[in-house]
Amino acid sequence: MKIRFGSLFAFFLLWVSVPIFAQNTQGVQLRTVVIDSGHGGKDPGSVAPGGKTLEKHIALSVALKFGKLIENAYPNVKVLYTRKTDIFLSLASRADFANKNHADLFISIHVNSNDKSAPAGSETYVMGKDNSESSLAVSKKENSVIVFEDDYKTTYQGFDPTNPESYIIFNLLQNAHFEQSVQFAEKVQKAFGKSPITTNRGVKQAGFLVLWRSSMPAVLVELGFISNTADRTVLTSDDGQNKMATALFNAFKEYQSGVDKLPSPISSVKEESKPVQKTDSIEAPPTPPSPPTPPTPNTSTETFSVQILAISRLLQTNAPEFKGYTDIRHKKEGTLYKYSTGSFATKEEAQTYCNKVRKDYPQAFVVKQ
Ligand SMILES: [Zn+2]
Repeated sequence: MKIRFGSLFAFFLLWVSVPIFAQNTQGVQLRTVVIDSGHGGKDPGSVAPGGKTLEKHIALSVALKFGKLIENAYPNVKVLYTRKTDIFLSLASRADFANKNHADLFISIHVNSNDKSAPAGSETYVMGKDNSESSLAVSKKENSVIVFEDDYKTTYQGFDPTNPESYIIFNLLQNAHFEQSVQFAEKVQKAFGKSPITTNRGVKQAGFLVLWRSSMPAVLVELGFISNTADRTVLTSDDGQNKMATALFNAFKEYQSGVDKLPSPISSVKEESKPVQKTDSIEAPPTPPSPPTPPTPNTSTETFSVQILAISRLLQTNAPEFKGYTDIRHKKEGTLYKYSTGSFATKEEAQTYCNKVRKDYPQAFVVKQ
C-alpha cells in the first residue's frame, strides 16, 4: 500500500490531540486499571504449531486471573477489562476504553511467537521507537491485526502495519507517560524473574497502535512464546497461568506503592539502569508561557534539578520543546538525552519548583545533578 504521509500525519495529529489527562502526581493513587486481553473473536493472535493453542485464550485467561488478584487485594482500585469473553475488538477501541474510563494504567497482555521454536521468554514493551529488527517484527505482528477490522483503511488512514515506512511516523511522536510506562515495564520484567518463564528479554520499545492512543502509562506484555514448548507448557496450564498472573500482580503491587508515594523521582532514576530511547515530539509548541524563574544556581557539591524531557535527539536550548524555559541542561545516558531545568541545594526546593513546572510538563520530576 502506498503510504500517504499527509493524511497519515493528520491522523496521528488527531490521535495526539486526544486529551492527556494531566496527572496530579501529588498524593495521587492508582484508582483505575485497564487490563487488555490481546486479540479475541475472529482474531486468534499467535497460533501454536498444530493450530490448537491460541494466543487469544491464554491472554484472556491470564488477564482475568491478574485482574482478580488486584480486585481481591485492592478493593479501592477499579479493575476494568477491555474484554472478558472471546470477542473481537479493534485496537483503537481498546485504548479509547481506557481513555474514557480515565485509567491510570493500561496493560495489554499478549503471547509472542516465532517461526523457530527456540526463542523463549518474556518481554514488555512501551510505546516508542526502537531500531531493532526484533522489536519491529513484534510490533508489525501485533499491529497487523487491524486487517480484521472492517474499515481499518479509514480508521488508521493508510497506516500499513507491514511496511517499515509506516513506522517512521512514530519517530515524531512522544508519549507523555513514557517514564512511568518504563517504570512499570521494568517491574513487570523483574517480577517475571520469579515466574516459571525466567528468560528475561527485557523492556523494549516499539510502535504499537494499541499503546499509542492511550493517554496514561501503558505497556504491552508478551508473556512468553507460544512457539516454544517450555513456554507453551507454562502458558497453557492453570498453574502456569496463575504464576504469570501473580508475577504481573507483584509488579502492580510494587508500582502501586511507588505511585502512592509519588513524587519519589530520585529512587526511580536510580532504578533506570538500561538506556532507553525516547521518540521525538511533534507536540506543537504552545505560545511560550512564562516559566517559573528558578533561583540562582548554587555552588554546593550536591544539587538537584527538575527533569522535564528525555528523548533520543540532541536539542538546542532554544528548541520549542522547551516551551520558553531558558535554564536547560542535558546529560546523555545511553541513547537518551535527558533535559533538566533549575539548580537547587535541596530536594525540597527542587520539588517546589518541580510542582510549578508540572503545569507545562506533567511528567517532570526531581533528579540529582
Ligand atoms: Zn498479540
